Amino acid sequence: MHVGRGSLGGIFSVMDLAAYVPLAAIDVPSFLSLPWGPLAFTAGLCLAIVACSSGIGWVHRTGEVLGEDEAARWNLIFNGIGLSLLVGCLLAVWWVVPVVVACLAVAAALFIRSKDPGLPEGRRVLAKGGFRNLVAELRPHVAPWSLNTGDGSRPRSLKEQFVDLIGGWRQRLAGATSKPKPGKRKGKAATSGDTFSFLKKDGTAVVTISLGSKQEARVSPHVLKAQQLLQATIRANASALALEPTESGYDVKALVRGTEKSLEKISGDEARGVMATLKVMADMTGSDAAAIRRGTFGVLLRGVRYQIAVESTPKATGEQMVLRLERPDAAEDQRGLEALGFRPKLLAQLREAFGRPYGMLLVVGPSGSGRTTTLYAALRDLDAKKRKIMTVEAPVQQPLDDVVQIDVDVAGGATIASVLQMVMRQDPDVVMVSDLDDRKTCEIAMQAALTGHFVFASLEARDTIDAVTRLLGLGVEPMLVQTAVSAVLAQRLARRLCPKCKVACEPPEALVRKFNLKPGAVKHVFQEKGCDACGQTGFRGVVPVHELLVMNDQIRNLITANPSARDLKAAAVLNGTLTLQIDGLTKVVHGETTVNEILRVTG
Ligand SMILES: [Zn+2]
Repeated sequence: MHVGRGSLGGIFSVMDLAAYVPLAAIDVPSFLSLPWGPLAFTAGLCLAIVACSSGIGWVHRTGEVLGEDEAARWNLIFNGIGLSLLVGCLLAVWWVVPVVVACLAVAAALFIRSKDPGLPEGRRVLAKGGFRNLVAELRPHVAPWSLNTGDGSRPRSLKEQFVDLIGGWRQRLAGATSKPKPGKRKGKAATSGDTFSFLKKDGTAVVTISLGSKQEARVSPHVLKAQQLLQATIRANASALALEPTESGYDVKALVRGTEKSLEKISGDEARGVMATLKVMADMTGSDAAAIRRGTFGVLLRGVRYQIAVESTPKATGEQMVLRLERPDAAEDQRGLEALGFRPKLLAQLREAFGRPYGMLLVVGPSGSGRTTTLYAALRDLDAKKRKIMTVEAPVQQPLDDVVQIDVDVAGGATIASVLQMVMRQDPDVVMVSDLDDRKTCEIAMQAALTGHFVFASLEARDTIDAVTRLLGLGVEPMLVQTAVSAVLAQRLARRLCPKCKVACEPPEALVRKFNLKPGAVKHVFQEKGCDACGQTGFRGVVPVHELLVMNDQIRNLITANPSARDLKAAAVLNGTLTLQIDGLTKVVHGETTVNEILRVTG
C-alpha cells in the first residue's frame, strides 16, 4: 500500500510539472479540421503520376516482344495517357486523376494480354504465378539496389523477392549510416536469408554457412569447397555438377542445358576431401570400393531448397562423382506431357501405348536427355486415383501425388531388382522403374509387363533400336523383349535458339542432303547470334527431339538373339518412326534450333 502511494505520487508530480508547460499556447489543429479533400487529391495525384511514369517505362522496356509497330502503338497509348494527366493537372481539372487511373488499368490489362503469348511460359504475367512474374520483371527497375539475384533466369518466388528486397534495404541503410559511399552499397552484409546450409535427406541441417561473413573460415576447407562448387552450379543455372578424375587431378564441370562447361581444375587431394564430405551429407556409407553408389541430400541457399542426387562411380583413374540438381521451382519439370514438345501424333501413340492395362514403355537416351521428366509427366498423365501406381527409384527425384514412391537404398545394399520384386507382390496396376541396368531387373520388369501390369522404365541407350539391342545384350531372352515391350521412346534435348537474336541463314548443305530438298523448298533456317537476353550464347531453353518405336508383328519378328540393327531400323522407318535426326531437322526447319545443335545431340 505504501509503495503504491509513493508511485502514484510520482505520476502526479510529473503531471503537475506538465501543467507549467504552456501547452495551451500551441495551436494544435483539430483532427477533423484537416483539409482531407485536398490531401486525398494530392495523394491520388502522386499515385497517378507514379503509376503513369512506371507504366510508360514498363511498356517502353518490354514492348519489343510484340514487334516494332505494335510496340510503337502501345508506347503511343501510354504516353497519351501520361500527357492527358499532365494537361489535366495544368488545367486543374480534378476528375482527370480517377479517369487516368482507370485508363491505365485497362491499358495495362490489354497490353499484358497481347504481350504474354510471345513470352516464354515462365515470364508470362497471365501464367501460373503471374503476379510473381510481374513483380520479378518490375523490381529491378523500381528497386535496383535489391538485385542480388545470383542465379540466372529462374523466376523467383514472391517470398524470395521480398527477402531480397528487405536485405537490399538493410544493406542500403547500413551503408548510408556508416559510410555513405555509393560503391559500398553492394557489399555483402549477411542478412538472415544470406546463408547456405547442407541438409540431410530428411531436411535436418548439418552445416550452415553465413555467406560473406568471417564465419566461413571456421568451417572445414572441404565443406567450404563443396559449398562453393554447389553455389557455382546453382548460379550457372546448371542441372548437374561432375567431378571427373584426370591424370593430373580433377576436372570440375557443370552441365548447363545439355552442354558441359568447365568450372575449374582441383587437385586430387582436394577432390577426394570434397567427395568424402558430400558422401557424408548424402549418407553414402557403403564400403565396397568397386560399386556404384548413390545417395541424396539437400542444400538451402538463401531460403531456397535444392535437392541433389549423388552418384559415385569408380573409374580407372579414380572415383568419379556426378551431382544432379533438382531446382525447387521445378515448374518446368512439373509439366504434363502436352508441354513437353511432342508432335501431336506421337503423343497420341504414346497415350495409346500406356493406356493399355499391360505392356511396357521404355524411355531411352543418354543421361541429361530429360528421361525422368518424361516419365514423371507420363505418370502424371495417368489417373492415380483409378490406377494403383508405384515407383521404384534410386533415388526418388520428385514427389508425385497419390503415387507410392520407393527410394531404393543402394548404399545400404538394396538392389532395384529386389525392391521391384517386393513391389510386384503388392500388385500395382502401373510400375515405374528408374533404371533397367541389369538382366535381373529387366526380367522382373518384363514378367510384370506380361502379367497384367503396365511398366514404365528408363534405360541408357542411343536410340530406340539401340535400346532393343542393349536389352538383348544384357542377356534378356528375345522372346521376352518381343512380347513385353509395347513401345520405345528415345529422346534428346537440343538447345533452343534465342527468339530475340536468332538470324536467318541459307539452309546448310547437310540439311538439304538429308531431306533431299529441292532448291528453294526451304528458304532459310536460323543460326545463333547472342544478345543480353541469352547471355551472349544465342540459345535459351531446350527443344526436345523424339523418336518413337511402336512394336508390331513385323518388328517383333526381327527381334532375335542376334538382330540386325539395320533391318530393325528399316522396319521401324517403314512403320512410321521418325528418327531422332529427322525429328530434329524438322525442328530446324521450324526455326526452333540449329542444324549443328541437332547433329551434336544426335551424333
Ligand atoms: Zn539472344
